Amino acid sequence: MKYIGAHVAIAGGVSNAPHNAHEIGATGFAMFTKAPSRWSASPLKPSEIDAFKQAMAEYGYEPCQVLVHDGYLINLGQPDEAKLEQSRAAFIDEMRRCEQLGLSLLNFHPGSHLNAIGIDDCLDRIAESINIALESTRGVKAVIENTAGQGTNLGHRFEQIAHIISKVEDKTRVGVCIDTCHAFAAGYDLSTPEAFDAVWREFDDIIGFRYLSGMHLNDAKKGLGSRVDRHAPLGDGELGVRCFEMLMADDRFDGIPLTLETPDEARWPQEIEWLKQQQ
Ligand SMILES: [Zn+2]
Ligand SMILES: [Zn+2]
Repeated sequence: MKYIGAHVAIAGGVSNAPHNAHEIGATGFAMFTKAPSRWSASPLKPSEIDAFKQAMAEYGYEPCQVLVHDGYLINLGQPDEAKLEQSRAAFIDEMRRCEQLGLSLLNFHPGSHLNAIGIDDCLDRIAESINIALESTRGVKAVIENTAGQGTNLGHRFEQIAHIISKVEDKTRVGVCIDTCHAFAAGYDLSTPEAFDAVWREFDDIIGFRYLSGMHLNDAKKGLGSRVDRHAPLGDGELGVRCFEMLMADDRFDGIPLTLETPDEARWPQEIEWLKQQQ
């Protein structure tokens, strides 16, 4: 069973997310639990938490069908100690909000070295940040997203993600989300059957399918290896529709949220319907 959907809005409160997902025909979805461009947010009110859980039940969504995305300001590999503390505290808050909503998957971008520390040092800091967050929370998995490798963002190589996982103490609570646009921009070709097979073999060898906990389905505006993160509607980019046909026909991608972050939201119902038909 595939959980196919999109990153839906939480305007008016997180309890609107399940409704918004249902409206576009989603069988899984992604969401924020607060405004992603701010450090802090007011705590979730008990009434809002209840309304969210009620909406989840009403529309028939389970926690395993929902991938939460954290805020954009958090850098768990931050070289500056004071700022690292700020990021770690904000990440723990993100995890707690998931806990409160009964959700189990928190997706985040690993971090950036900002040219101030080495790559391995930064990866170690990210792993330590994950360990701290896992110790202070329960039941939520930290899901590392691969990046396009823009600027000094790490996590664009499978080896970097494997490095982080190797230093996480509780391996049952760490996972990986692969964004197809980011992978393509980072140089992983998913556009042809041969290349697709080779990339996933490499993924399995270096990281392991057991860690795959979600995917972001995006076409890519820029070419293979561009290291530029620009999403395109499915079929409108350099990656092309073949990748998504192959993903939908492959049972290695069952049982995890597969969510669109494509730019034209008006096309989500059609994109979701098309994806479902490729199964
Ligand atoms: Zn992301
Ligand atoms: Zn992206």
